[in-house]
Amino acid sequence: MNISKPLYPHLLQPLDLGFVTLKNRVLMGSMHTGLEEEKDGFHRMAAYFAARAEGGVGLIVTGGVAPNRAGWVAPFSLRLAKASQVEEHRLITDAVHRADGKICMQILHAGRYGYHPLCVAPSTIKAPINRFKPRALSDRGVRSTIRDFVTCATLARDAGYDGVEIMGSEGYLINEFIARKTNLREDQWGGSFNNRIRFPLEIVRGVRQAVGPNFIIIYRLSMLDLVKGGSTWEEVVMLAKEIEQVGATLINTGIGWHEARVPTIATMVPRAGFTWVTKRLMGQVGIPLITTNRINMPEVAEAVLAEGCADMVSMARPFLADPDWVRKAKEGRSLEINTCIGCNQACLDHIFARQSATCLVNPRACRETIMPFVKTAAAKKVAVVGAGPAGLACAVTAAARGHQVTLFEASGEIGGQFRLARQIPGKGEFAETLRYYQQQVQLNGVSMRLQVAPTAAELQAFAEIVISTGVKPRPIDIQGSEGTNVSLYPEVITGRKLVGARVAIIGAGGIGFDMATFLLHERSGPETPAAFMGAWGVDMEYGGEGGLGEVRREAPARTIYLLQRKTSKPGVRLGKTTGWIHRSILKKNGVKMLIGVEYLAVTAEGLRIRHEGREQLLEVDDVVVCAGQMSELGLAKELDALGMRYHLIGGALKAGELDAKRAIAQGTEVADRL
Ligand code: NAP
Ligand code: SF4
Repeated sequence: MNISKPLYPHLLQPLDLGFVTLKNRVLMGSMHTGLEEEKDGFHRMAAYFAARAEGGVGLIVTGGVAPNRAGWVAPFSLRLAKASQVEEHRLITDAVHRADGKICMQILHAGRYGYHPLCVAPSTIKAPINRFKPRALSDRGVRSTIRDFVTCATLARDAGYDGVEIMGSEGYLINEFIARKTNLREDQWGGSFNNRIRFPLEIVRGVRQAVGPNFIIIYRLSMLDLVKGGSTWEEVVMLAKEIEQVGATLINTGIGWHEARVPTIATMVPRAGFTWVTKRLMGQVGIPLITTNRINMPEVAEAVLAEGCADMVSMARPFLADPDWVRKAKEGRSLEINTCIGCNQACLDHIFARQSATCLVNPRACRETIMPFVKTAAAKKVAVVGAGPAGLACAVTAAARGHQVTLFEASGEIGGQFRLARQIPGKGEFAETLRYYQQQVQLNGVSMRLQVAPTAAELQAFAEIVISTGVKPRPIDIQGSEGTNVSLYPEVITGRKLVGARVAIIGAGGIGFDMATFLLHERSGPETPAAFMGAWGVDMEYGGEGGLGEVRREAPARTIYLLQRKTSKPGVRLGKTTGWIHRSILKKNGVKMLIGVEYLAVTAEGLRIRHEGREQLLEVDDVVVCAGQMSELGLAKELDALGMRYHLIGGALKAGELDAKRAIAQGTEVADRL
């Protein structure tokens, strides 16, 4: 008799909401993708959500939809306020229901975060992350906004949604009413806590009355504001109880306002790092609680539920990375999951740059209709040379399409620059991408030839040749640069060279920042949630407003100089949503960042530079060079000489602004065309 242990028994257990049962405890959390505002956006959203529903997720929540113009996140954001706007939403709800899924629409009023001149708030206090100052809503304005929420929810029901999520966190309008920080009103909507929560309670009460009992209402409650003047824990509990009373079906967790200076979802946040917050609320209300933030693998999600942190888990970005996340978990194939690495590079950074989102590790995300996966009708022999991110993406995609692929790699291991990235503290998730590719190589029958650098002659047997030979680090050429106290960044990251307690880093790009982080933390192991919270001043005892406490400081492992020749702000080209975190880590640890530096010589005493017109010696034991890269083009030149055709991708094509997002997208696109 084969008695196998059930897989993820908590995660895959249905959730009975009384009038409806969700097939498992996995919520695809709300995320703005930019498709909302694209031409043909509804068709594209329908395909995007349907793919996730087919993948087996228990409940989907759409990106935020404004209940009125003032609630736009940006001018002309998606709004649902009139019956004439209902029909297009049916494309989404029908597609999801055909795929046996369930979907709620999120109602989001941006409040003072609205990036437009019509933005409103409880009081006229400008957000530090917005240049538009809000207008304070009048009493009449507050009442009509509540009506707009109710109308929006009713229209969502008419459009076929299974429910709505009312966005009450992240520092948007509802949250602004609740927090003392942003609500200075003296009428019935401000002052005492009971007055400040009147706005969300009236909204949820009104929505419940309008939509009837058999419609899901999720309330996203800010359980940890992470700003001064935010809610206390006692207030969070009181609000949750009231929200239950006025008719919510589920309470979802919100962590941190957008203006908070604590990382909440970036890759350096420990996995499931904030689930302790939801756990505090468990048992205080009768309706199910959903927890969130940096949950990206089934093992993590299962542990969160098994430990009683919540009744359900929400993940947003992991469903960009892999639409089949739930199906793979269910079938015991979690090693095949394309894991979200929390980089934000192709999702949130795109949204901030007003581009539609996609995913660094899955370039088909949000492009389901324009970049479909199609099997080939004519299998070819394909050689891919170089198993970094570009080559891996190309090889596994081509093989999945039916081509016969050989992947050559000169070193003994796949991964290219990702092998270095995964060593950086807080970037351990990059190892997941390599695990994913390793699996795909095997599953798709790619013939892997490690420690083989093929010659042009050997490649003649292939119908298609893809060169993804990557990059080599750019050395510097100054007096003394050949000395033993000068290292290239890969030598240090791989441990081939050890450096002393005082280090100068030449080059303050992404790798220079990574190197500084690496050298600061080299002595410590992976960060625990408690260590992370302490370092960022989050009070896990939740003694005061917003959950903020003392920042715990540790002596840094080294004295570090981070240098660049340009006079621009260091790290200015780092990701929009993560750059501030990297700068903040370095500043907190006393890294001295110098700009406008001229490098003169390396001597036994250190690095001689000219800075602000003055020659000086930085007394350091070692100099680490992070001065960018050059394309590795030896093989491509050989092929050129023989007149052989090939496709050039990744860092080998363009070393400047070396970029994993571009590399993986290029690899996939070239494979799609073979
Ligand atoms: P990079 O961003 O191009 O930076 C190279 C640095 O080297 C620059 O600071 C440049 O500044 C300096 N440099 C260039 N040539 C030099 C020379 N001959 N001598 C001395 N200094 C020189 O390259 P990277 O740091 O290697 O990063 C590669 C890519 O990966 C980038 O696109 C980066 O954004 C990305 N990345 C991002 C992250 C992140 O977002 N956290 C992390 C890692 C990598 P000056 O010319 O002003 O001196
Ligand atoms: Fe996750 Fe990065 Fe993809 Fe965004 S771009 S979904 S953070 S892997």
